[in-house]
Amino acid sequence: MSKSSELQCSFCGKKKAETELLIAGIDAHICDQCIEQANGIVIQEANSEISNKELSPTKLLKPQEIKSFLDQYVIGQDFTKKILSVSVYNHYKRLSQKIEEDDVEIQKSNIIMVGKTGTGKTLMAKSIAKMLDVPLAIVDATVLTEAGYVGEDVESILTRLLQAADYNLEKAERGIVFIDEIDKIARKSDNPSITRDVSGEGVQQALLKLLEGTIVNVPPKGGRKHPDQKFIEVNTENILFIAGGAFDGIERFISKRLNMAAIGYKSSKEEIILKENLLQYINPKDLKDFGLIPEIIGRLPVVTYMNPLDAKALRAILTTPKNAIIKQFVKLFEMDGIDLQFKEPALDYIVENALDYNLGARGLRSLCEEILNDAMFSMPGGANKKLIVTKPYAEKQLSRIVLKKLKAVS
Ligand code: ADP
Repeated sequence: MSKSSELQCSFCGKKKAETELLIAGIDAHICDQCIEQANGIVIQEANSEISNKELSPTKLLKPQEIKSFLDQYVIGQDFTKKILSVSVYNHYKRLSQKIEEDDVEIQKSNIIMVGKTGTGKTLMAKSIAKMLDVPLAIVDATVLTEAGYVGEDVESILTRLLQAADYNLEKAERGIVFIDEIDKIARKSDNPSITRDVSGEGVQQALLKLLEGTIVNVPPKGGRKHPDQKFIEVNTENILFIAGGAFDGIERFISKRLNMAAIGYKSSKEEIILKENLLQYINPKDLKDFGLIPEIIGRLPVVTYMNPLDAKALRAILTTPKNAIIKQFVKLFEMDGIDLQFKEPALDYIVENALDYNLGARGLRSLCEEILNDAMFSMPGGANKKLIVTKPYAEKQLSRIVLKKLKAVS
């Protein structure tokens, strides 16, 4: 008998011939299958360590620290940052509460953020998930439909969260769900049809179930195409839901409400201020007038707003946050050994364009892409290792693009 045929895995006892691979250590061997199994155990252990760490209130950043963290990524929006810092802190503090020892049960505070597109709503949710190291699912409310209709069931939200958590149920159950465009499923008040409102109220009703905190049967692979797949039971009680939406036109409900309350002591100056920044006065009643059902509003008790981004904010967004757009492009060029620099007037020019075409911060990236596209195509591998973007250079590059295309983005 040859020596190798005697070799066997010291863990499961399989002979070398029965394994794909047998690795030798000092006085012991391990087969490929045992390695895989052991790896699974290591990951599981690491995950449960993370879970325990998250649960510990002493490890949780305090609200002011949460805000400082957000400051690194999100420009401005101080009011929302404060509100979010407190609700996120309370939410995760609530998770550390041991109910059996306490008779006061803290309810969770899901959040709704109202503000124009490109003002940082998604970025805020992403930054919080990054800070807490919890899984995040970003979903678009417009693709959701009631069960039985074409589109995605609301359960698909939880499938995404499971995927974001690498199917670690425990992690998923303490993750964050960001539901974008929640305003698009508002009840259409001018549609008094007796038939079900497929895109609006029905979806809100379906969402309610998730927000309430319940056990939902979730198809791990999503969709209805795999009717045979086993469901995973996901408890949504400790999942933090953050909803966002532009709520175009909600100002008219706010101003109507404010006018009624302010009868008798309005000066014209006050009126102007109110008109400029009406969103700051938003309250749950306005959301109801807009078409969210009261039950949904009740489950999203923290209402906050995002300011429109002015030139100063847009200019800062270009260069100051940790992952600022310009920093990203500089990095991309650096990887090809190219030194990329922007002159101040060029940056101001980009901001002007973003403002002109009402693109919010979303436009900044498109504009940078357009300006740098030629160089990103021709410079890698070439002799020229330096690009200085001046205002005339930016103008020349931008003059070629179809501005209508950018307008459509907004
Ligand atoms: P929203 O969800 O409000 O439509 P996003 O958060 O998706 O907007 O923003 C789009 C992009 O614009 C983000 O990737 C980010 O780079 C940038 N951005 C938007 N608002 C801000 C902000 N306040 N601070 C920093 N970057 C921002």
